[in-house]
Amino acid sequence: MTDADDVARLRRQLERERRIRKQAEVIAEDATRRLYDADRMKSLFVTTVSHELRTPLTPILGFAEGLADKWDTIEDATRRDIVDRIHQNAATLRLLIDSLLDFSQLENAQVAISVETLAISKEVERVIDQLEAISRRHVLETELDPSVIVRADRTAVARIVSNLVSNAVKYSPDGGRVRVLTNATDTAGVLAVEDDGPGIDPEERERIFQRFYRSSGETVARARGLGIGLALVRALAEAMGGDAGVDEAPSGGARFWVSFPLASTQSTA
Ligand code: ADP
Repeated sequence: MTDADDVARLRRQLERERRIRKQAEVIAEDATRRLYDADRMKSLFVTTVSHELRTPLTPILGFAEGLADKWDTIEDATRRDIVDRIHQNAATLRLLIDSLLDFSQLENAQVAISVETLAISKEVERVIDQLEAISRRHVLETELDPSVIVRADRTAVARIVSNLVSNAVKYSPDGGRVRVLTNATDTAGVLAVEDDGPGIDPEERERIFQRFYRSSGETVARARGLGIGLALVRALAEAMGGDAGVDEAPSGGARFWVSFPLASTQSTA
């Protein structure tokens, strides 16, 4: 081997080392940027959460104080209205806290799914009864097929229905109809929630299922939210062996759907 060969080999080695060092620098820069972004996102999230929790809490305190101070002078109908509003805001607060707890469990991979054989319509009815308080200004309709038997976790189904119905109420005009339907295809039980709101642009139909994503539209800007509800809905659906998505309702509004594996035997345990 000549001196020239040795020099060429050394050059190649140096060049290789230089490239590796450069790659390591790029990876380190990327990791630092990600850490910085995650940190910023976390503190933004804490600010948003505090704000979102305070929003329903403020009227609860205000109305309760008003009732306590002026109980004897307020007419019965007004008193009833105030109690309704306290109830509505408390229901919103509970949903928010439930979503946050679910979300933190999901982040820590602690979601305990316990799947059983159940009639999806029965679960939906149970949750809808509790959700009436969320909006007295919307018409809640159901079209449930009692013969659809699926494999699912009761609590997860309740979370899914609460999130989808409260979104339908939040993003559609007062007086609008919210329809909850259950039916079955050859391979899955399907739960759908339709509304009369603005619907979801086709190019956003995947993105809205990402955590923290919120559309920039006017309706959304007016509604409150943390951007975690749909991420939860999809994660829970997937954990049960199903899926979740959105398309268009016949009214032009949104139609969110969640699928569940059908029970092999179509009778509840
Ligand atoms: P949040 O409602 O807290 O923003 P979600 O994860 O539940 O978070 O929803 C993510 C986004 O999807 C919302 O910010 C909104 O842009 C859109 N979205 C959800 N449900 C509806 C609906 N029924 N109609 C129109 N847009 C919706």
